[in-house]
Formats: sequence, C-alpha cells, structure tokens
Amino acid sequence: MPRSNAAELITLRVNIVKELRNKWKKERERNPYVNEHFGGFVNELLHDILEKDEFLRHYAPFLSEEGCTRDTLYIKDFKENKITEIHLSENKLHCSLCNSFACFHIQFAMATPRVAKLNLELETIDADIEEAGQQVKKITSSRRRRNTISRN
Ligand SMILES: [Zn+2]
Repeated sequence: MPRSNAAELITLRVNIVKELRNKWKKERERNPYVNEHFGGFVNELLHDILEKDEFLRHYAPFLSEEGCTRDTLYIKDFKENKITEIHLSENKLHCSLCNSFACFHIQFAMATPRVAKLNLELETIDADIEEAGQQVKKITSSRRRRNTISRN
C-alpha cells in the first residue's frame, strides 16, 4: 500500500505495539468492519480518543480533570466551584462531593482515560512492585559482589 504524503512516522514502544496488535486481532475476529490494516486501526483508535475528549467538553463543559494520584481522581466542578475526589471503594467509584456511586461526576470520571490509573487491587500491584524491588536488590548485590572480587 503506498504511504500517504500526509503521513508522519512516530516511534511506539514495543510493548504498546504488542498490546495494540492483540487488541486489533481480537476486534477483527469479532467485527469484520474493523480496519484490515494495523496502522489504519491505530489511527482510528487515536482519533476516537480525540473525539471522546471533544464529546466530554460538550457533554460536561463545567467539569474538568484536575489530576490524579494512585487512588484518587480529582474533578473540578465549576457549577459548584468545588473539587470532588473520585476514589474506589470496594471496587466501585465513589464521589466525595455527592457521597454517591452514581452521580454525574462518576459518569464523567468513567469517560476519562485516567480512571484506569486508579488501582483496583492494590495488594497485587504492591506485591509486583515488591518483587521487582527484590530483583533490583539481587542484581545490585551481585554487582557489588563482582566489584569486590575484581578489586581483590
Ligand atoms: Zn458527584
């Protein structure tokens, strides 16, 4: 297929490409109208994200994302002139401003990509981090040992 003159080359991380390819394959199995070219599929996916952002701006013009931490998503409500904290409570999103699991802020939060940053299972992730930390420790200590041997 000839490359369009309007195309631009960008670098994607190897693991991202792998995940995107898996997603593309799975979606093609389910839906024959999914783009038959991997590049086209990725472009459409990115375009959908931009369209969703635009949709959110029209759907909830008085709400904006103010940032997030590991367990909280901050959403500014310009109507109320307050910032609400959205966090997971027993694997359900909870809004601190409305003390609700089903308010407009939750709907908004669900439509933002950052909602995925909230950790569903903190224990599992903590264990992974700890394991990665242990591996780093092992590598570091074996390097130290090697350094000690070479100095002697
Ligand atoms: Zn709310």
